[in-house]
Order: sequence, then structure tokens, then C-alpha cells
Amino acid sequence: MSVRLEKDWQNWKWQLQNKIRNKESLESYIQLSDAEISAIEKTDSLFELGITPYYASLMDPLDTNCPIRLQSIPKIDELKFSDRDKQDPLAEEQYMPVKGVTHRYPDRALWYLSHTCAVYCRFCTRKRKVSKPMGTPNRNEWQSALDYFRRTESVREVILSGGDPLSLSEDHIDWILSELKSIPHINQIRIHTRHPVTLPMRITESLCRIFNKYFPIFLVTHFNHPKECSPEAREAISRLVKQGAVSVLNQSVLLEGINDSSEILKDLNYRLLSMGVKPYYLHQCDEVFGVSHFRVPIQRGKEIYQNLRGQQSGISIPLYVADLTGGGGKVPLLPEYEVETKEFTNIYRNYKGDLYEISNGNQQNEAE
Ligand SMILES: *Cc1c(COP(=O)(O)O)cnc(C)c1O
Ligand code: SF4
Repeated sequence: MSVRLEKDWQNWKWQLQNKIRNKESLESYIQLSDAEISAIEKTDSLFELGITPYYASLMDPLDTNCPIRLQSIPKIDELKFSDRDKQDPLAEEQYMPVKGVTHRYPDRALWYLSHTCAVYCRFCTRKRKVSKPMGTPNRNEWQSALDYFRRTESVREVILSGGDPLSLSEDHIDWILSELKSIPHINQIRIHTRHPVTLPMRITESLCRIFNKYFPIFLVTHFNHPKECSPEAREAISRLVKQGAVSVLNQSVLLEGINDSSEILKDLNYRLLSMGVKPYYLHQCDEVFGVSHFRVPIQRGKEIYQNLRGQQSGISIPLYVADLTGGGGKVPLLPEYEVETKEFTNIYRNYKGDLYEISNGNQQNEAE
């Protein structure tokens, strides 16, 4: 593609400086439909438009149903609000012991380090705050978060999140990781970032050298569609794994019209494995305001999911989960395999639909 000939294309700072924020610059990459133009105008004040030139270069210039377009260009449906829609569906702000930290589960805490992302995903769970410069965490807040982790020995894992935590400078990332590493009860560090997908050039060799110092780091990225597994993304993952000694996992969101088919998810899972990425979670879309057009009914989600398990290598299968509205945490959404439980045996349906009876381990009393 001709835009890729730009001499600074591989420079992540150039990508961010040239981020697409309006319909005029988007039109230099693709032909916008009338519906897209009108949606961009009408959703302007609700949730910012932001797309890296790199991510735009993955778009189909003519097809409005392109999965890259659907994830990053607004639809008029974003203005639809239902009674169930929430600003903060996961009640993240309620579970904050200190500003910027959500500590919901016993042994791990989420730490929001930034409110900016390379691309603003239209289905974002945190769109209430992401992209808004107001309330961006500052150095004092970082210090009080670190103090909290230091005095809370139950925290065995800190998850750097956002926005995108890799929006920070390398000096800041280095400092934060070294502070976390100096806390004895922290067992492992995790980073949640979409940059390998939306800004793979951000995964520089110098960033990977920093990661390498703080082994083990688990990085959870966010590929939703096989089209996102580009040569650039592949190289970024390879740097993370080989130079950063980072273990890379992936979480996807099940999205209507984007990846809501077993065939697409199978393809995605195979590609992720071929890049060295382990599929971790497949998320049911949260009850965020203005994203109902992305939500796949759970029943259909389970059917799609059932067609993965058993058909495809076990290591390629993510866990399908819902994050419970109200802050209840994640629960697995599993297809039913157990058909019947009897006194000494249970009956199961396997991936082909055949029934098998196995001992359930209850011991028969020998005196009887
Ligand atoms: C999702 C989430 C985590 C991480 O959960 P895992 O199941 O360990 O991946 C941690 N804290 C909060 C608040 C979360 O929403
Ligand atoms: S990268 Fe994550 S936090 Fe940022 S807009 Fe996309 S889904 Fe939201």
C-alpha cells in the first residue's frame, strides 16, 4: 500500500503524531460511506475517533463491513441506549482502594496507568474515561498505588492496564516495573495492551530490553480478527517473545458481524498460535452504553464456542467468559457437557455429540 512508503511509517511516534481524528484524514485511506460520515459527526462528543495510520492501512478501502472498519469507525447505533446500559458496567470505580487501582479479586489488582490508546475501539468497556485527558493519572497517584501494593500482601500480581499502559514513555515503564519488582510478595507482573494490534511499531527493541530485565512478564494483548495478524504484528510479537522474554496471551471480545463465527475464531486461534500467542479469554461484550449492536446473544456465543472445543488443538482454545455487570467478576460461559449425574456414574456428551458414561468416583458401600 502506498501509505506504507512514508519514511517514518515504522516510527511509533510518527504513527501517534499522525493519528486519524476526523473524517477528512480517514478519507485519505478509504472511501467512507454516507452512513459512516454521518455517524462520525453525530458521535463526536460521545467518544473520540482515533485510528493509527497503520491500523487504517489494514482496512478494506471499499467494504464498509470490513472487520477493521467496524472496530474503529463509529456507527449511528452508538447513540442507542437501553435500560441496561451502564457507564461503568464492571463497577471498577467502586472497587478502588486508591485512585487508579481496582482490587476486586483476592490476589490481583488492576492498575490504570493511562487514559490514551493508539486506536479507540468502538466497543470499549472503559469508554467513559478512555480518550479523555481529564483525570489522567499523575506521579503522586502512581506513588500511592505503589504504596498500596507494598502494604497489601495479598496482592500477588499487578496488572498494568488503561487505556494503554504502553502509551507511557520507556523511562516511566522501566521505573514502574522496577518498583513493582522490588515488592517481595508480587509474584508476577502482567500487562494488558492492544499496541501489538494497533501500533505494533511501539514494541521496539529498547522496550523489549526493559521487559527482559523484569522476567517473568505476562502480556495480554487483544486481537479480534485474523486480518489483524499482519506481518508487522507478527514481528512485534516475535520481539516480545525472543528479546523481551515475555509470555504473550490474547483476549478477544466476541463481536457481532466481526468475529461471531466458529470459522473466523478458528482461523484467529491458529494464527495466534503460529505467532507464539496463547488464546486466553473470549469475552462476552459488556453492558456498556451504546455498544449493544456489537453484542452476540450468549446462547449463540456458546454454540460458536462449542464448535471450537474438540475440533481444534486444546492450546488454541480461549475460555469464553462474561464479566458480570455490577462488579461480580468473570464467570465461564460453558456449553453443557454433563447430560446426567447418577449415584455412581455420570453421562457426558463429547465434542461429536456422542454419549459416554463414566464413574463419578462415589464409592459403593461394600457392606451393602
Ligand atoms: C479481569 C480482571 C482481572 C484479571 O482477571 P483474570 O481472570 O486473572 O485474567 C483482575 N481484576 C479485575 C478488576 C478484572 O476485571
Ligand atoms: S485498546 Fe482497550 S482500553 Fe483502549 S479503546 Fe480499545 S478496548 Fe478500550
